[in-house]
Amino acid sequence: MFQPGEVQVQKFGGSSMATPERILKVAERVAEQVRAGRRIVLVVSAMGDTTDDLLALMGRISHDPPPRELDQLAATGEIVSVSVTAAALHRVGLTARSFIAPTLGIRTDDRFGSAEITAFERLGELAAFVRGGGVAVVAGYQGMTPAGDLTTLGRGGSDITAVALARDLGQKLCEKFTDEDGVYSADPRLLPTARKVWHLDYREMDALARYGNGILHPRAIAYARESGIRIHVRSSFTREEGSVVGPDGDPRHLVKSLAVDRKQAVVTVEGVRQPPDGGAPATWLADLPFSPAAWEWRTFDGITGSLRVGFRIGETFTALPALWELAAGKNAEEVRFASTLAVISIVGCGLETNAELVPRLLRPLQAIGIHPLLVDHQGVRLTLAVPRDGVTEALDLLHRTVLDL
Ligand code: ASP
Ligand code: MG
Repeated sequence: MFQPGEVQVQKFGGSSMATPERILKVAERVAEQVRAGRRIVLVVSAMGDTTDDLLALMGRISHDPPPRELDQLAATGEIVSVSVTAAALHRVGLTARSFIAPTLGIRTDDRFGSAEITAFERLGELAAFVRGGGVAVVAGYQGMTPAGDLTTLGRGGSDITAVALARDLGQKLCEKFTDEDGVYSADPRLLPTARKVWHLDYREMDALARYGNGILHPRAIAYARESGIRIHVRSSFTREEGSVVGPDGDPRHLVKSLAVDRKQAVVTVEGVRQPPDGGAPATWLADLPFSPAAWEWRTFDGITGSLRVGFRIGETFTALPALWELAAGKNAEEVRFASTLAVISIVGCGLETNAELVPRLLRPLQAIGIHPLLVDHQGVRLTLAVPRDGVTEALDLLHRTVLDL
């Protein structure tokens, strides 16, 4: 279709598109590049909080709206964005055209709310337009079932559209413009000493995306990984270089970043006697008649018989009865629920390659009396649950340890 580098796929998120002024700024930035000889395909999200507002509107109509109707509504946010963006590009003197699910043939399956893109059936038309010097403006987040109903890909799903489009246009780079100028070692609003991380590998970014930093959609990272596409996360307001997510990362930095998630709960089931044929805790949870969408983590101490399971606070009403049932089935002594927790995830390739790292990170915390309720170490990620009132202190200490590595 195109040689790598022949077109630039650039995604602009809701904050970059929040007002007419910002949209005109995006248009000027694009105009500069087009005048420098570049071909541009834009993927845009809904303006500002539009998607939230649309979903809230539906919430006032019904608590249980048909998923199809919810998607027909939610998809309109991006339709607004592409049309005004294309008009802004015209205003600054460019040739531009908007493409939405039907005009680009963005085919998906029919899982409303989390649809999967299967093809861009009319990509040839977009390619011809771009070859002729036009700027294509594509609606992110949406698609269309074989029957022609609009679908959405899941919250934050414009990232997925952008990476899938870069792939199908034969590109090895996708730029994501956002209100943060990259990925930092910690949230700079919480810790001013945080430094920018220039390179992350796909697994590191995936762990960060899932455990709280929310900068990229995990499915976009998965697509990029499958096709070896690099994603450059950079600011829509400055010219600075941002962070690049790619296959190689930067092994010199053992820990890349700390993410915090305040919406986690933990249940502790004490005194679980492990029957000789009892299997592993993972199978106990899998065997329950119902489970929340995700048991985020679990630890089991075979000596004290203490099982800890973490899940998102929103899943409490499913998780608690399931764990009560488990506790009853295993003659457990006590079930305790804690929701005033924050979960800190420390992410970096060194956590996999350097056995000394985990104790080195935990020691300073223990020294000041912070004993994490949960320690979950999987591959490049170490997750700790700490009481919410100790999170700032814990974060600061962990971050200082990380900067000293
Ligand atoms: N507008 C959609 C959302 O807010 C998609 C996106 O932002 O990527 O979830
Ligand atoms: Mg949005």
